[in-house]
Amino acid sequence: MRFFNPENLFKKEERKEPVKPAGFEKFQESLIKQIETNNNNKIEIEYTGYRRFEHLYGQKLKEAGKIEIINKQGEQDKKFDFSSLLPKNWRFCERVTKGQVLSAGLNLLTSHYSKEIWFPDSYFDLESGKKTETFSRPEDLLGLLHEIGHSFESKETITKRITIKEKMKAKIGKLAGIKTEDLPVELFTEKEKQDYYQYIICPERDAWAFALRKCREAKRQGIDIFPKQASSEEILKIVRHCLCSALDAGIGIMKDPLEDSETMKIQREAIKGSKKLKSCWGEFKNRVIAGIIDKLR
Ligand SMILES: [Zn+2]
Repeated sequence: MRFFNPENLFKKEERKEPVKPAGFEKFQESLIKQIETNNNNKIEIEYTGYRRFEHLYGQKLKEAGKIEIINKQGEQDKKFDFSSLLPKNWRFCERVTKGQVLSAGLNLLTSHYSKEIWFPDSYFDLESGKKTETFSRPEDLLGLLHEIGHSFESKETITKRITIKEKMKAKIGKLAGIKTEDLPVELFTEKEKQDYYQYIICPERDAWAFALRKCREAKRQGIDIFPKQASSEEILKIVRHCLCSALDAGIGIMKDPLEDSETMKIQREAIKGSKKLKSCWGEFKNRVIAGIIDKLR
């Protein structure tokens, strides 16, 4: 919870220039990756220096000044610059993952507190069972656009969301502890549902709408993030998968690498063990996701 304490969230913090360690000039580099689509795209990440917080993670984390796709097909290079979409004073930063298993939907994170979008250098892909380089797959780039969408959220939304998430997790945890079959049919009260929609579901929907819009804009500029034959239904499948992970993580069903406390572990196991609670949540979640997907079509 280090970065998500609502009281600390909007404290004025002087943005210090990243400390340049000895040999900084040597460190500055460009990393070029081939994206596995048939569109001849290359992703270029321009690292600009080390990020602070080294003392917290025991690891030097890189900042990225620029993330861009370059398409080398045709006479002229076509470029799509993700960095230019960020609000003022925001930046991309490497994220510590400690090698956890992460899905494409969960390996990126927006930190409103530090005005950063965090991305791991690589992640363990559940489907292929392999260590996967970040942004080597088109869905990672869609995820990146989604996170950029989150960066435009209002202060009110962010603060309220934190409180609601905590309340929901506490409630679910309490219910999960009940061993009998007397679990309530409805998980949330009407007021809780309203808040949940307004501060958790709507921002997710808006961030995906932003991502899909930017994807289309890139296409108009000659950059296809997805393979040319990808249908919009296939793209929406990715959105559906990511939404599912995000909603599960929001109430503590799914492992959230940033807050994996003992309590969370017990809670997760308890939820897994309670069939009624699981089906209750599943039903609610599927309804919500279907509604969002419908709106994004
Ligand atoms: Zn999201």
